[in-house]
Amino acid sequence: MSLLFLLRSSQRIPFKSALPQIKLLRRQQLSSHSTPLTSCQAIDSIEQSNSTLNAFVSYRTKDDIAKSEPQNGPLKGWPVGIKANIAMTTASTTCASKVLEGYTSPFKATAVEALEKAGAVIVGKTNMDEFGMGSKNLYSKYGPARNPFRPDDTVGTEIYDYSPGGSSGGSGAAVAAGMCRVALGSDTGGSVRLPGAWCGIVGYKPTYGRISRYGLVPYGSSLDTVGIMARTVEDVLSTFKAICIPDHRDMTCMSESLRKRINDMAKSRPWVNKLYEVSPGESLEIKQPLKGMRIGIPRECWVEELSEPALESWKAGARRLADLGCEIVAVSLPHLPYSLPTYYTIALAEASSNLARYDGIRYGRRSSEKPDDLHNCNASNKYANTRSEGFGVEVQRRILLGTYVLSAQTCEQYYIPSQKIRRLIQQDFDSVFALPNALHAESALAKSRLLTSRPAGVDALLFPTSTNTARLLESKEKNQAAGYVNDVMTVPANLAGIPAISVPAGKKNGMPLGLQLSAQYGDDELLLRIASHLQQ
Ligand code: GLN
Repeated sequence: MSLLFLLRSSQRIPFKSALPQIKLLRRQQLSSHSTPLTSCQAIDSIEQSNSTLNAFVSYRTKDDIAKSEPQNGPLKGWPVGIKANIAMTTASTTCASKVLEGYTSPFKATAVEALEKAGAVIVGKTNMDEFGMGSKNLYSKYGPARNPFRPDDTVGTEIYDYSPGGSSGGSGAAVAAGMCRVALGSDTGGSVRLPGAWCGIVGYKPTYGRISRYGLVPYGSSLDTVGIMARTVEDVLSTFKAICIPDHRDMTCMSESLRKRINDMAKSRPWVNKLYEVSPGESLEIKQPLKGMRIGIPRECWVEELSEPALESWKAGARRLADLGCEIVAVSLPHLPYSLPTYYTIALAEASSNLARYDGIRYGRRSSEKPDDLHNCNASNKYANTRSEGFGVEVQRRILLGTYVLSAQTCEQYYIPSQKIRRLIQQDFDSVFALPNALHAESALAKSRLLTSRPAGVDALLFPTSTNTARLLESKEKNQAAGYVNDVMTVPANLAGIPAISVPAGKKNGMPLGLQLSAQYGDDELLLRIASHLQQ
């Protein structure tokens, strides 16, 4: 019985029974515990490789770093890269846009503050698609970042012409090339998971609201999250623990009471609690560390665009989880096929409103026409010139589309239906997870306390992060919309606000592939546990 049969079939079929037993793969310990990267080594690598990879848009010198001793904490001395749309007071925050050229924020993002408090050393700001809009890191005022991986037949040449993915392409390339141990990115529709997959590292998008977004420049506010990229799930987890804190400066950041409710609900599952009795280090000796977990394979992710290598790695991932003790079942999320148009309607509508503030008066760059004569010149011309000169072609396209879907004539046609479909997608996810959604079910906690036996539903979902390996930087898409298809696997988690993580899952012709796991709203710790066993 194959994965394809499972996807086609309408009943739940135990996948494992028909699988040949595969030998437990020993997880490759890329872990930086054995070879911790120091900030000096990180700067050496940046100095050596940045002219080729263009991963950092600015970075510190060793002398500058030596001037201050990192604080004592769990991340002491870890070199960390910060995406160019996350505010710092000591480096400019340009979002890779001409419109914010030279802009330095007067305040620091909460996540950056928390990282420094935990001992991390910020080494520089990473490249990205302008304002987070893109999937290949092609739309940057600094030029594209480049993928450190190349197909087997080009190794030995100096050609690096594959995209690292986007929009956090600089963060992905930097971690993969050993220029930092961890990097922060932002994920509105997949921007840490796609570069994670294409650069062969881990990319994690938390539940919406778990990490404060204070200091993250907004793109689509109902979708934006701060994400974490690293070589191992363990490094992601340590970073997450350091920055996952309540913050009154971000009104969408989860309150203490919601955090407690989620924690209580998560702990009400006896079958999951068993998993926590096994520490990650022990897992290699224990034959089935994930025994009792139920993993769903969403049928709707088996899309036409899925390449053979991505399908093969999906099958191998399912086999691996089955081997580790999981029960693998097919599930259906009927509204998933509408995710991409729904995302691109909502994200662009929100972007058109968020980016209205860049008018040359309040922030950053101003059109050079009549620079000193604001009172006499026509203000709307000044705005228009500033915005036409300051924004790149893709951002302008998106502002126009976003304004269009919000206009009085078309709002009912596009924006309102997209919001309704978004709710249906959220409900689809709620219907497949065993854990109730802490946000929607008032009685969910009471209900989960009554659980004596395992309810129907899965603990996590498994599906590819991308339909294929990295694309060539200059590959020409048939049309603009064809480029948006790169996001087909990642946008659903943002629409639903649920956590998702991409872990490395093999290579095709030397180019990495990623597999994605997703879990119920707030179930981040379980997600990271399962991911730590899936990573190879
Ligand atoms: N590629 C998607 C977009 O362009 C997602 C970007 C992101 O997550 N920032 O909207």
